[in-house]
Amino acid sequence: MSEQCQRCGEEGEDRRTLWMACLYEMRELPVPFKLSAIKGVYQEQVGTKRLETLDTDVPVFETMPEEEEQQYRFYNLRVCKSCRAEWMQAIANWFKAQPVKRHPTGTGVYGRKHGAVYEMSEEEIKERWPDVELVRK
Ligand SMILES: [Zn+2]
Repeated sequence: MSEQCQRCGEEGEDRRTLWMACLYEMRELPVPFKLSAIKGVYQEQVGTKRLETLDTDVPVFETMPEEEEQQYRFYNLRVCKSCRAEWMQAIANWFKAQPVKRHPTGTGVYGRKHGAVYEMSEEEIKERWPDVELVRK
Protein backbone atom coordinates (compact mmCIF):
# COMPACT_ATOMS: atom_id res chain seq x y z
CA MET A 1 0.00 0.00 0.00
CA SER A 2 1.41 3.35 -1.03
CA GLU A 3 1.87 5.91 1.70
CA GLN A 4 3.09 9.49 1.69
CA CYS A 5 6.21 10.44 3.67
CA GLN A 6 5.05 12.98 6.27
CA ARG A 7 8.21 15.04 5.77
CA CYS A 8 9.08 15.14 2.06
CA GLY A 9 5.73 14.05 0.66
CA GLU A 10 7.16 11.25 -1.47
CA GLU A 11 4.70 8.48 -2.29
CA GLY A 12 5.94 4.95 -1.74
CA GLU A 13 5.45 1.67 0.04
CA ASP A 14 8.60 1.52 2.16
CA ARG A 15 7.85 3.74 5.16
CA ARG A 16 9.29 3.76 8.66
CA THR A 17 7.78 4.97 11.91
CA LEU A 18 9.93 7.27 14.05
CA TRP A 19 9.07 6.83 17.74
CA MET A 20 9.91 9.73 20.02
CA ALA A 21 9.24 10.50 23.68
CA CYS A 22 10.92 12.84 26.17
CA LEU A 23 8.30 13.36 28.91
CA TYR A 24 7.28 16.63 27.35
CA GLU A 25 4.53 17.85 25.03
CA MET A 26 6.40 17.53 21.74
CA ARG A 27 3.41 18.90 19.81
CA GLU A 28 4.77 22.36 20.79
CA LEU A 29 7.09 21.83 17.85
CA PRO A 30 5.73 22.68 14.39
CA VAL A 31 5.80 19.01 13.42
CA PRO A 32 2.70 16.95 12.51
CA PHE A 33 3.24 14.19 15.07
CA LYS A 34 0.68 11.47 15.60
CA LEU A 35 0.30 9.98 19.05
CA SER A 36 0.52 6.29 19.81
CA ALA A 37 0.83 4.28 22.99
CA ILE A 38 2.19 0.97 24.11
CA LYS A 39 0.98 -0.75 27.25
CA GLY A 40 3.53 -2.84 29.09
CA VAL A 41 6.38 -2.85 31.57
CA TYR A 42 9.56 -0.82 31.29
CA GLN A 43 12.68 -2.86 30.71
CA GLU A 44 16.26 -1.72 30.74
CA GLN A 45 19.17 -3.22 28.87
CA VAL A 46 21.33 -5.09 31.35
CA GLY A 47 23.83 -6.53 28.94
CA THR A 48 24.27 -8.43 25.73
CA LYS A 49 24.19 -12.03 24.72
CA ARG A 50 26.27 -13.56 21.96
CA LEU A 51 24.24 -15.00 19.12
CA GLU A 52 26.75 -17.37 17.54
CA THR A 53 24.54 -18.31 14.59
CA LEU A 54 24.53 -14.71 13.37
CA ASP A 55 27.96 -13.86 14.81
CA THR A 56 26.56 -10.85 16.64
CA ASP A 57 25.65 -9.58 20.11
CA VAL A 58 21.99 -8.95 20.93
CA PRO A 59 20.73 -6.84 23.84
CA VAL A 60 19.35 -8.48 26.98
CA PHE A 61 16.56 -6.63 28.81
CA GLU A 62 15.32 -6.99 32.36
CA THR A 63 12.17 -5.74 34.04
CA MET A 64 12.90 -3.37 36.89
CA PRO A 65 11.72 -4.45 40.37
CA GLU A 66 8.25 -3.21 41.33
CA GLU A 67 7.56 -2.28 37.73
CA GLU A 68 3.88 -2.36 36.87
CA GLU A 69 2.29 -2.37 33.48
CA GLN A 70 1.51 1.10 32.26
CA GLN A 71 0.90 3.10 29.12
CA TYR A 72 3.90 4.67 27.36
CA ARG A 73 3.06 7.40 24.86
CA PHE A 74 5.05 8.24 21.79
CA TYR A 75 5.07 10.93 19.13
CA ASN A 76 5.28 9.33 15.72
CA LEU A 77 6.15 10.30 12.20
CA ARG A 78 5.81 8.03 9.14
CA VAL A 79 8.68 8.79 6.82
CA CYS A 80 10.70 7.41 3.92
CA LYS A 81 14.15 5.90 4.48
CA SER A 82 15.91 9.07 3.26
CA CYS A 83 14.05 11.23 5.78
CA ARG A 84 14.75 8.68 8.51
CA ALA A 85 18.46 8.87 7.67
CA GLU A 86 18.38 12.68 7.92
CA TRP A 87 16.54 12.45 11.26
CA MET A 88 19.23 10.12 12.60
CA GLN A 89 21.94 12.50 11.37
CA ALA A 90 20.13 15.44 13.02
CA ILE A 91 20.25 13.61 16.36
CA ALA A 92 23.96 12.95 15.92
CA ASN A 93 24.56 16.62 14.99
CA TRP A 94 22.63 17.81 18.07
CA PHE A 95 24.57 15.48 20.35
CA LYS A 96 27.96 16.50 18.94
CA ALA A 97 27.20 20.24 18.92
CA GLN A 98 28.32 22.48 21.77
CA PRO A 99 25.37 22.86 24.19
CA VAL A 100 23.99 26.40 24.37
CA LYS A 101 24.89 27.93 27.74
CA ARG A 102 22.55 30.72 28.69
CA HIS A 103 23.94 33.37 30.98
CA PRO A 104 22.01 35.70 33.31
CA THR A 105 20.83 38.74 31.35
CA GLY A 106 19.76 40.86 34.31
CA THR A 107 16.28 41.53 32.92
CA GLY A 108 14.53 39.49 35.57
CA VAL A 109 12.08 38.34 32.90
CA TYR A 110 11.90 34.62 32.41
CA GLY A 111 10.63 32.66 29.49
CA ARG A 112 10.04 29.02 28.81
CA LYS A 113 10.96 27.24 25.62
CA HIS A 114 10.27 23.58 25.05
CA GLY A 115 10.13 22.99 28.80
CA ALA A 116 13.31 24.85 29.78
CA VAL A 117 13.14 28.10 31.78
CA TYR A 118 15.61 30.87 30.94
CA GLU A 119 16.12 34.57 31.63
CA MET A 120 15.18 36.46 28.47
CA SER A 121 17.46 39.05 26.89
CA GLU A 122 16.21 42.59 26.24
CA GLU A 123 16.08 41.77 22.52
CA GLU A 124 13.90 38.72 23.13
CA ILE A 125 11.58 40.77 25.35
CA LYS A 126 11.24 43.52 22.71
CA GLU A 127 10.57 40.95 20.02
CA ARG A 128 7.94 39.15 22.07
CA TRP A 129 6.22 42.27 23.49
CA PRO A 130 7.05 45.12 21.06
CA ASP A 131 4.61 47.57 22.71
CA VAL A 132 5.85 47.04 26.27
CA GLU A 133 8.68 49.07 27.77
CA LEU A 134 11.09 47.24 30.06
CA VAL A 135 11.44 49.08 33.37
CA ARG A 136 14.25 48.30 35.79
CA LYS A 137 13.90 48.87 39.53
ZN1 LIG B 1 10.71 11.54 3.07
